[in-house]
This record gives sequence, structure tokens and C-alpha cells, in this order.
Amino acid sequence: MPASPASQRAIRGTVLVADDDPVMRLLMLEMLQQVGLEGIEAQDGREAVAVAAERRPDLILMDVEMPHLDGFSACRAIRRAEGPGASVPIVMVTGGDDIEAVTSAYEAGATDFISKPINWPILGHRVLYVLRASDAIARLRIADAQNRAVLAAIPDTFFRMNRDGFYLDYEPGRGRMNGGLQGRTRPGRRDAAMDEAVPFTSERCVGRHITEVLPKEIAARVMTQLGEVLSTEQVRSVEYELVRFGETQHFEARLVATGPSEVLGLVRDISERKRTEEQIRRLAYCDSLTGIPNRQAFLETLERELQRSKVGNKKFAVLFMDLDAFKRINDTLGHNVGDHLLKIVSERLRETIRPSDLVSRSEALPGDGLHGDVLHGDAAPEHSPATNLARLGGDEFTILIPDLERVEHALNVAHRVKEAMRRPFLIEGHEIFVTASIGISLFPEDGDDCNSLLKYADTAMYHAKNCGKNNAKLYSSSLTMQIMSHVKLEVGLRKALQNNELYLLYQPQLDVRSSEIVGVEALVRWRHPERGVISPTEFIPLAEETGLIVPIGEWVLRTACNQARLWQGLPRRPVRMAVNLSAKQFKDENLSQIVLSALDETGLDPKLLELELTEGTLMDDAIATLATLERLRGIGVYLSIDDFGTGYSSMNYLKRFDVRALKIDRSFISGLPQDSENAAITRAIIAMAHGLKMAVVAEGVETGEQLLLLEQYGCDMVQGYFLGHPSSADAMTLMLGPLHLALPDIK
Ligand code: C2E
Ligand code: MG
Ligand code: MG
Repeated sequence: MPASPASQRAIRGTVLVADDDPVMRLLMLEMLQQVGLEGIEAQDGREAVAVAAERRPDLILMDVEMPHLDGFSACRAIRRAEGPGASVPIVMVTGGDDIEAVTSAYEAGATDFISKPINWPILGHRVLYVLRASDAIARLRIADAQNRAVLAAIPDTFFRMNRDGFYLDYEPGRGRMNGGLQGRTRPGRRDAAMDEAVPFTSERCVGRHITEVLPKEIAARVMTQLGEVLSTEQVRSVEYELVRFGETQHFEARLVATGPSEVLGLVRDISERKRTEEQIRRLAYCDSLTGIPNRQAFLETLERELQRSKVGNKKFAVLFMDLDAFKRINDTLGHNVGDHLLKIVSERLRETIRPSDLVSRSEALPGDGLHGDVLHGDAAPEHSPATNLARLGGDEFTILIPDLERVEHALNVAHRVKEAMRRPFLIEGHEIFVTASIGISLFPEDGDDCNSLLKYADTAMYHAKNCGKNNAKLYSSSLTMQIMSHVKLEVGLRKALQNNELYLLYQPQLDVRSSEIVGVEALVRWRHPERGVISPTEFIPLAEETGLIVPIGEWVLRTACNQARLWQGLPRRPVRMAVNLSAKQFKDENLSQIVLSALDETGLDPKLLELELTEGTLMDDAIATLATLERLRGIGVYLSIDDFGTGYSSMNYLKRFDVRALKIDRSFISGLPQDSENAAITRAIIAMAHGLKMAVVAEGVETGEQLLLLEQYGCDMVQGYFLGHPSSADAMTLMLGPLHLALPDIK
């Protein structure tokens, strides 16, 4: 291989020529000089050994046959004298093709050989080549020694692995636990979470596949990264944990490509770092005085809640509490007392927002609020009370109320907080009385980012202070008004029943084929003493929220049954009485009792009572629903689904519920006949219901055209302004008379 000028230039050196023949020596020295090398001489083996020791040549050309000491012995002697790591290249000059001599030369420690007769023109180049090769080897040896030293010096375990996941090499880290791609495992149970410790050694790993060494899940992650490393040539790392003797240890494996199909891995025990990180997290997220979360933690909880609520379409409230006159306590009784007070305040707040109190949802929340891990990374229960409460600083505390169903609920919490502060605080013999001012902001009404919500709650808190302290205020004053009127309405509704302010109207349902009234729907109204008649669309939701729907519904049922019983006695064919049932009533376990007793007391034929349920009611809890439906069917009442099409019933469910009729919601009917999409839906619903042997009622029929279309579609019954508005019992009695007075001719 021709040497590049650069490497030729790089080779300078001294060559010892050991030969007893002076002519040979002279010729050799001459040839060496021609390629820029310096030559020194020795006349025999012994002299060669001495000169080598003294002059430390870069290469030795050694004749085999020499007096005193032959070339082989001299070679061995030089090798013995060399220090560790050093190895001067020794080229033996052997006679002819003396194979034995060649073998002996290598055995004696020679680097290469040249056989006589010597090809003089190339001797110098040959020597240069050997020098260069030995130089390269020396450098490699140094690099290798350095690498080994580095690897020995760092605490990591290292391994080499091929692209298929087999260990090619494995060197456990020194002086510490040996746990990594690597790991320790229980013999015969490599797959399970590693528990017992058998140290991993080169013998255990080399030649094995990673899945034999590490748990499958970790092995899979390493293999994924290994693929990445090989395709991108970038360093990748995998963090994983192994359980040893019941203790979790954390490791980080860094992978780097060392060839097209091979990686080098460095595995480090990072347990200590993890512990420190956790500690820092705790410190960073925890208020050191009270032990509850600090501002940072609260902001992060708030952010999470914000995202959750946006996705889930939920509401939440932020309460901002500030003690009134805390500064005075601090100034007059000292900071110790002040600090102590803050601690007790935070304890009382914790008590106040215990999960069962805080959240209106029925299921209990994880964490007991007292010993909950303050922040535990991702493992923290999303709504542990510990994270819902925070101290922002000074005497300012915040509370997050998730899943808010009604604004009143936030006010209730605020009220409880105020109550909790009312009990005197006994500190160092002082009986201290404090009050708190509270501001509340709401998501989404008041804002849709954390900072605004916190700021608005703060603003509301100042407003509360201005209104005479010991107060709670909502940020939005219009909301306050809204709630006031809501609360007023609620108070009124509670009295409406006993004051006889409720009454029923009845709307006829006609059979499309016979044009006869086959049923009526009872629709409740509230004659409010100040506001006049209030629609059920306004007060039924309120009645549902407050639970008043149960007594109201029962009143409706009895009144309607009573009316139906009266009509049952008319000479024309009897009509069915349809009564709307709200979800809360449906869930009431006394429902079937109430229905039975209404029928009993009035003497109405159960067949003439229709109960209208909505899809939402039915879908809520399928198992309980089936049982309730079964009981109602047992009584013999007629069941129908109201407002059909607005909910989310699947046909499968409908089949199981086995109801008698569907009432197509009026939103589908109102656009007919122009709205072709709704026309198609209506037609499909009718066909589907007939397939399930259900009758179909179209609601909200307002025109003759709609009626004609519905008749074409095969709809069984119709209800709507075109056929009759909801009317009083008296008016209805007239309509049900033998003359059909007020009815249009629908055919
Ligand atoms: P719903 O059960 O779907 O009752 C039909 C509603 O449509 C009634 O409104 C009725 O007046 C109205 N309506 C009837 N025909 C037409 C029409 O051609 N065009 C239009 N635009 N509307 C028509 P109302 O009486 O205001 O009742 C509203 C809802 O309140 C009812 O819807 C029902 O869900 C609920 N509701 C009424 N009374 C009671 C009750 O006693 N108990 C319960 N739980 N809910 C009731
Ligand atoms: Mg209805
Ligand atoms: Mg309806």
C-alpha cells in the first residue's frame, strides 16, 4: 500500500541494525538513510540487547545467526527487558525460505521477518511500512487503554448489543449495585417484576437476548429505542425501574450507535437522583409552614382542571379566601402566633373541604384529605382535597371546587369556610377570633384561563371585604342577581304545591286513521302569584335540581289520574292519560308504589295511564332501568318514550326496554315538509318503530301539510297545535264530548 506523503513525513525514527556481517550492516544503513531513517549498529546479539536498552530504537532489524547471542535469543532478551506496554517492532532477517526460522522468530517475539536474499531497493520502504503499522497499533492500544480507563472510572455498567437485542459484551459497573440492562432477577422468573437479586455478570448476559435478562415491558422499550438509535444515529435513553428486595431502583440506559447494527449502552443507577427530584418537587410544591400545596401547585392543579373541564364541558369554581385583620394579629401577638394561626386555619380548611363535603358528585374521592400525599407526580389523585386547597402566601388561601353543578354549591362551600373560621382559635393562651372574606370566580362564566380566574376571585374577595368583611362574593354580579332570582323561585316553588298554584292542562292526541282523540297529555303549569303563569320548561329543571320534582310529579300523577277517571265515565271511547315522568321520579324507588296508589285511589284502569319517559332517563343506568320498567309493565301501564330523537338511544336498547310508543320530538316535525333531512329521519324513525312493534306519535304538528305527510309516512298518532292546544280540563271535556266540537276534520 503506497504511503501518503503525510504519513511518510510523519515517520522519523532510529533503526538498530544487528548483524555480524559488516557489509550487510553497511548496505542496510545505506538503504535506511535513503528513506530518511537513522541507523545504528550492533555486531552481535549481545551488543544488540545492550544498544536496544540504551538507545531505545524505533525498530530493530535482527539477523538470526550471530556470534555470542543469536538473533532469537537477543529478541527474547529485548522483549523481557521491555517495560509493560512497550513493544519495539523487531524484524528478523532469516535465511532463505527457512519456515522453521520464521516460526521461531514469531515465538521469540518478533514482529515481522525479511528473508534473504534481501531485496535491497524495497528494504527501506518495508521498514517504513512496519514502523507505520506499529505506530498505528501503538495508538490503538493507547486509545483502547484510555477507553477502558474511562469505562472503569465511570460508575456505569456498559454493554454492547446487536440490532436483534443480543448482548455482545457486558461489563458491570464497578463498586456499586449492578442493576441494568443489567438488572437482577430471580432465577427462572426473569419475566416477572424483578424482586430477588442475582447480580448480572458478563457470563449471564453475553450471548443472551434482552428479554431473557430484563422484564418484557422494559426490554420492549429498550428495543424500540435501540431501533431509533440505529436509524437516527442519535443518542437515546430509557428510564426504568426494577424492584429489588421490595425497594424500587431507578436506572437510566443511554444507547449510542457504534456501528450499523450495534449499540453501546451505558446503564446508570439514578435512584438517588430520583429521590432528590422527588424531594425538590415536594419542596417546590408545598407550603413549608402549613404543609398544604403552594401557589405553584395550585396553578398546576387549576390548569389541569381547566383542561379537564373544557373537554368534559364541566364547571368549576375558584374560592379565594383572605383572613380579615390578620395583620393586626401578627402585629399585636407576634409572628409565632400568626404562624400558628395559619396552620390551624389550613387544618380547618382541609376539614371543610373533605371530599364528601366538597363535591356534589355522589362517588367519594380518593385520599382522606389529611394524610394525602401532597403531590405525587402523576400518581396524585386528580381531585385529592390536598391539591384542591392551597396557601398562596400570607393569609391567602384558595380552594378549587371541581364539577360544579350549581353555583349555589360554591356559595355553600364559602359559607362552610366562614363557619369553620368562626370557632375561636386557642393559641398560646390567647383566644383569637377571626373572620374571612371570600371571593369566587367561575369557569366558564368568568374566564377561561387560570390567571384570570385567580385574579377575578381575588377581585371578588376585595369586593367582599368592602362589603363589610366576613362575606363571600361572586365575581360576576349579574350572576349574583341570577342566583338571587333562582333562589327566590326555588323558595316559591316549595310553596307552590301547598298554595295550590300548580294546575294541569291537557293536550289531545289523535289517531291518524280514525281522526279520533285517543289520548291526552297532561302538562303542568305554575300560576306564580307575582309573575303570572310560568312554563314548565323554566320550573321543571329547577324542581329536578332541588328534588321538588318528586312531590310535584306525584301531585301531577294523582291529579291526571283523577281527571282521566272522570273521562273514563264519558259515553265515548275512553282516552289514555299521558303523564310526563322526570328522571328523578323514575329513579325514586317508591315510583311503582306511587303509581299503584294513584290508580287505586282514583280507580283508573291502568291501561289508560301512559307514562312518558325520555331517552336520557332510560339510558342512565340500564340495569336499574330494566327492573323499574318491568315493575311498571307489571302494573299494566302504557309506556312511551318522549322527545325521541334528541337523546342517544341505540336501537338495541330500545328493543330491550320494550316500550309501547315513541313520540318523535317536535324539532323533527317543525321543519316539515320542507326540511328533507328531517323528513327522512322522521320516516326512518317510523319504519324502525314499526319494526319493533311500537306505535309512533308525532309531536308539535302545527299544519295540515305536516299532518298529511305524517299520514303518508304511516305515523299512528299526532299531537300539536293544529289538533289542539294544551287546554283546561273543562275545555277538554267539551272536546271529548260526542260532538267532537272543536276538532278540525283531519281527513
Ligand atoms: P313535552 O312532554 O314534550 O310536552 C310537549 C310540549 O310541546 C308542551 O310544552 C306542549 O305545550 C308543546 N307543544 C304541543 N304542541 C305543540 C306545537 O304544535 N307546537 C309547539 N311549538 N309546541 C307544542 P309545555 O307544556 O311547555 O311543556 C314542556 C315540557 O315540560 C314537556 O315537554 C315536558 O317535558 C315538561 N313537562 C310538562 N309537564 C310536566 C310534568 O307534569 N312533569 C314533568 N316531569 N315534566 C313536565
Ligand atoms: Mg311529554
Ligand atoms: Mg315531547
